[in-house]
Parts: sequence; C-alpha cells; structure tokens
Amino acid sequence: MISAWATQAIGRLDEERERAGATPLREFPLPAGWGVRLLLKDESAQPTGSLKHRLARALFHDAIIAGRISEGTTVVEATGGAMATAQAYFARLLGLPYVAVMPKKSSGAEVERLGGTCRYVDPPLAIYEEARRLADRVKGHCLDHYAAAAAVDWHGGSLAEELFEQVAECPRWIVVGAGTGATSAALGRHLRDRGLPGRLAVVDPENSAYFPGWAYGTPDYTTGMPSRIEGIGRPRVEPGFAADVVDLVVPVPDAASVAAARRVCEATGLAVGPATGTNLWGALELIGRMRAEDVRGDVVTVIGDAHPRHLSTCHDDAWAKGKGLDWEPHAARLARVLDHGESW
Ligand SMILES: *Cc1c(COP(=O)(O)O)cnc(C)c1O
Repeated sequence: MISAWATQAIGRLDEERERAGATPLREFPLPAGWGVRLLLKDESAQPTGSLKHRLARALFHDAIIAGRISEGTTVVEATGGAMATAQAYFARLLGLPYVAVMPKKSSGAEVERLGGTCRYVDPPLAIYEEARRLADRVKGHCLDHYAAAAAVDWHGGSLAEELFEQVAECPRWIVVGAGTGATSAALGRHLRDRGLPGRLAVVDPENSAYFPGWAYGTPDYTTGMPSRIEGIGRPRVEPGFAADVVDLVVPVPDAASVAAARRVCEATGLAVGPATGTNLWGALELIGRMRAEDVRGDVVTVIGDAHPRHLSTCHDDAWAKGKGLDWEPHAARLARVLDHGESW
C-alpha cells in the first residue's frame, strides 16, 4: 500500500500532465510538389520548454510508486541543462528538496529559479560519483536518469502515445536523437507493438557511441568523448537504448546540425537547440531518399527544446567559428534543397 503522501503526489503528477496537454505538431515548409510532409512535434511547448519534461515526470512517478521518494526526500541528480530544469520543476511541484550536480561550466540559473540547489563539479565526469555520494550522505534519492530510463513506465505521458493520437496516417519515418534512449525506445516499441508500417531512425552526432555500436552490433562500444550536441549522443551505449527496435541510425556532422538548427529557427521563430538541427538534417536525408524512390507520405521529427540561451551558441557565428564548426557549406546545401528543390 502506498502512503497518503504518495497518493497525493501521484495525483499532482497526473494533474500536471493533464494541464500540460499535448504538444503541437507543426509543419515544416517543404517545396511544393514533393508529395511529402515534414511534421515537427514541438516539445519546446512543454511547461519547462523541452522533451526532458516527459521523462522527468515519469521518473518521479516511478520512484514514488517504488517508495524510493517519499515525503521530504532530497532528490539528487547528476545533470545540467534541460533535464535539471525539468526535474527541479517536478521537485517543486511535489514540495521536495532538489540538488543538481553539474559540470562547472553549466548554468544552474533555471534550477535555482525553480527553488533547486546546484553543486558544481570538475572534471565533468565526476558528477556521477558526487551525486551518488551526496544522495547517500543526506539519505536522499539519486534519480540516475540514464539507468532509470531503461525501465521507465511512461504512465500515459510518452511522446509515442501522444504522437500517434495526432496523426491520421502512420508516418513513413520517425526521426529522433538518443540521449538516454528512452524516447526512441518508446517510439520503436509503439511501431512494433501495433504492427505499424512506419520506421524509426535515430540521428546521432559526432563522438557518440550509438551509431558505431548499432552499425557494428557492439553494444559495449565506447568513444570516451562527450558529444557537442546538447541532449543527444553519448560516449557509451546507454542501457535505455533499444537497438532492436531502431531501423536505422544516421550519423550527422555537428556542423550540419548547427546549420539545420538555424533553418528551424528561420521557419518557426523558435531558438531551438542544436539537437533539433540534427533531427531536421536526418529527416531531410530520409526525405531525399523518399523523393529518389518516388515515395510519398509524412516524416515526423521533434523540436527538442527552444531557449534564448541557444542564440549565443549554435545560432551565433562567432560561437560556431570558435568551436571549429564550419556550418556554411551545410547551410548552402540546405538552401539548394529547400529553396531550389534540388535533390539531397
Ligand atoms: C534529450 C533529448 C533527446 C533524447 O531523449 P532520450 O529520451 O533521453 O533519449 C532527443 N532529442 C533532444 C533534442 C533532446 O534534448
């Protein structure tokens, strides 16, 4: 039996999910006459502005049901960026203390605005051990989203369930990046469970283990290098990545992700993060194949997040130059394809 506090907490999470509602599907403009629509599931419309909102909600839900989080439990996590923001939001909703252990260079401003605490650690890879140590010391709970994502129960809040309620016909391709792998696993399992004809492509940035691990069938592949595309790409294949429900993994150069993120910004007015660019690039590559084979239908991908801070990173020429990301040739290719209808 679960406690009165837990019952009330679960009620709050369910209410929040109802209130947040479904995120919109937007159409990305393609040249006329292609017979293909490109739809963007806009996760920037989530209350905390990113795709991480769903996973954070589900992880709190699971931990409460399992009794790992109860009244007054300090919730700890090793993460910065959008996941920390989403977790801080749910901790506040439930009246729980929250500590994000993040690399020194990250910004914890949003976590603090939501009443959470940030602990900055160097080197970046030390965050995992420090989060565990801290959780032990305060007898709190470390959410550990990379491990927990492998067994996540979405409690009706997955992107897959919501997306398939919004589309009349199954898309030919669904394109998404992988961080924990939970989102792609939910989409791939949904397609297979329902016997749907659509296929799932995971887009993968440089330095990530997902593409080589999938291509060579070696789940223990490691790169030892962090991804430069926030939110996606990992130095190892995480336990939540379900390779057997992924039809294709598409490697995308980081500079191409930057060029494509700018195109999404131009089309939607949203200051999307670079991972949304990775999605657009992969989707356009698959649409290029569909055109070559004269296949019609829809392709769906995701706007993972949007935030003004991205304006001073991937949308900023000086930043991209400083990182050695030569986005211009990729922007020129996008212009040839999207503005002049050339083939991919
Ligand atoms: C975090 C993130 C993902 C990956 O989500 P997981 O479910 O953790 O694999 C995909 N796309 C974007 C834009 C993200 O920020």
